[in-house]
Amino acid sequence: MQIQLDNITKHFGQFQALSPLSLTIEKGEMMGLLGPSGSGKTTLLRIIAGLENSNSGQIHFGERDVTQVHVRDRRVGFVFQNYALFKHMTVAENIAFGLQVMPRRERPSAAAITQRVNELLEVVQLGHLRQRYPEQLSGGQKQRIALARALATQPEILLLDEPFGALDAQVRKELRQWLRRLHDEMAFTSVFVTHDQDEALELSDRVVVMSNGQIEQVDSPVDLYASPKSRFVFDFLGNVN
Ligand code: ADP
Repeated sequence: MQIQLDNITKHFGQFQALSPLSLTIEKGEMMGLLGPSGSGKTTLLRIIAGLENSNSGQIHFGERDVTQVHVRDRRVGFVFQNYALFKHMTVAENIAFGLQVMPRRERPSAAAITQRVNELLEVVQLGHLRQRYPEQLSGGQKQRIALARALATQPEILLLDEPFGALDAQVRKELRQWLRRLHDEMAFTSVFVTHDQDEALELSDRVVVMSNGQIEQVDSPVDLYASPKSRFVFDFLGNVN
């Protein structure tokens, strides 16, 4: 599903977190939001999800104007920074949560929820952990459970905030490749936030480089390498070469 943002702004009190900002994310695209800490990446992601309201501007998912639509009805999958799993719930209960809080008329039966949880556990290859609690899982396992939970309501749009931030390098690399495969197989439109240039360049079809609440550049990784317009990416490439 295409995501279109037109003239989005956001301020917190006097502070302008996002200047008028417009962006089209194509259906099936994997878009990385890259930039230093405080540049507005998470705020933008939360506005797309409906977790935060913009102060002005419009958001469309395909033809549908979702600007005023509540987070529950936007039907996006969201993976939070540090996973935000419910500590007192098992893996299976965590995954089922999104289905159990659906409006009554749309909520699947208990049997259908169990079946969906089983399918998702298969997708993330963690069926053997269904009765465990989050504290009994590794970081990589928690990340995959958070992803399964985000997928429970069968969203077409997947939004991820620093999905691999807390993981060590090897696990991060494996999960990156796995997420990219999943994105392609399920034909999602995905947007993820990262401050890690390697991650943005490796995983994205296109990268949005942000700075001070503005978009500095939107390009494919190849074009970003060839002609970096932002200081942030420029400095990074300088360090790599
Ligand atoms: P990033 O994800 O790029 O690190 P954020 O979107 O989290 O940046 O934040 C952008 C700016 O907005 C930061 O300066 C941050 O302090 C500010 N900000 C974010 N959320 C709030 C909030 N709820 N209240 C006040 N300021 C906020």
